[in-house]
Amino acid sequence: MDLVLEMEKLGYKGLVRYDVSMKKYSTFKAGGAAKFFAEPMNEDELVQLLYTARGLETDVFILGNGSNVLFADSGFDGLVIKIGKGFSSIDIISKNEDELVIEAGAGALLSTFGNMIANESYEGAEFCCGIPGSVGGAVFMNAGAYGREMKDIVTEVTYIDPKTLNVRTIGNEECDFGYRRSVFEREGYIVIKAVAKLKRGDLSTILNYVNELKNKRTASQPLELPSAGSTFKRPEGHYAGALIEEAGLKGFAIDHSGAQVSAKHAGFIVNVGGNATATDIKRLIDYVSDKVYERCGVRLEPEVRLIGF
Ligand SMILES: Cc1cc2nc3c(=O)[nH]c(=O)nc-3n(C[C@H](O)[C@H](O)[C@H](O)COP(=O)(O)OP(=O)(O)OC[C@H]3O[C@@H](n4cnc5c(N)ncnc54)[C@H](O)[C@@H]3O)c2cc1C
Repeated sequence: MDLVLEMEKLGYKGLVRYDVSMKKYSTFKAGGAAKFFAEPMNEDELVQLLYTARGLETDVFILGNGSNVLFADSGFDGLVIKIGKGFSSIDIISKNEDELVIEAGAGALLSTFGNMIANESYEGAEFCCGIPGSVGGAVFMNAGAYGREMKDIVTEVTYIDPKTLNVRTIGNEECDFGYRRSVFEREGYIVIKAVAKLKRGDLSTILNYVNELKNKRTASQPLELPSAGSTFKRPEGHYAGALIEEAGLKGFAIDHSGAQVSAKHAGFIVNVGGNATATDIKRLIDYVSDKVYERCGVRLEPEVRLIGF
């Protein structure tokens, strides 16, 4: 039975599309098509999709803002569910002279969330302003920058377990956050929303700090080119970018595909011109990883999530 027909039979209000290119949904601007693609508008629609996919034994991939994924050129032979607009509300739960408690849907942009907190004059979420992911993707990855991570601000997360379709809310401790990992990543849970708590601060100090971080990024990262941010995780005791530079690979390209180690920040692989295929990018990822291992004895592990390779 076809997933699209099955969803129609169930009275699903949203659209399930066939053969949707993931190029447009990934900041790398590369990758093949998802066999099925849906963007549920609420929790009920999400559960309906998961229930149907499970019944049809269709693989599911949860997509946030696509800023840390690379889909293979052969695509994804299953259902990609984008957690986007339908889950993008941000609500202030309470605020006073000391602290702000704020809840964000998993589909809200992390930068919108960070900027809203900063403009309300609460500190601690400035690092969120420059990360181009969704709140859900950031919780899943425990995204972080400039010495802070999601684990420092998140107090509660609500998720769906796709195996049981149960919805649960857990506290920070149970999220088991670590460097670019969490219980959601380990168990494949789907983040629906998160609550964060921030301390009151001085508005101009906060906004200056947001600006300072933004300027640092613009000066050091190739933000004008398609990429997924830092391609590799930071190996213990090292910086991936520094090792890649040490291996003589800053600005390196295997061919003219457009896949290139950034000349501005060696930790980023970029897709110059936006025409490199996922295969070109993956070949460069593997090449860099092997060369760094040969020359520095450290094995780099991709931070970008490789789908279908
Ligand atoms: C220019 C640039 C700069 C970046 N800078 C940083 C940085 O400073 N720090 C940093 O940590 N990262 C950075 N990144 C990487 C990326 O933005 C983060 O990892 C971000 O958290 C990914 O969120 P996303 O919504 O785009 O997730 P996606 O790329 O869509 O998905 C990433 C993973 O999260 C899962 N996922 C997404 N949403 C959910 C959900 N609701 N529930 C369960 N699983 C979900 C996906 O299945 C996938 O495995 C950068 C990327 C770019 C392009």
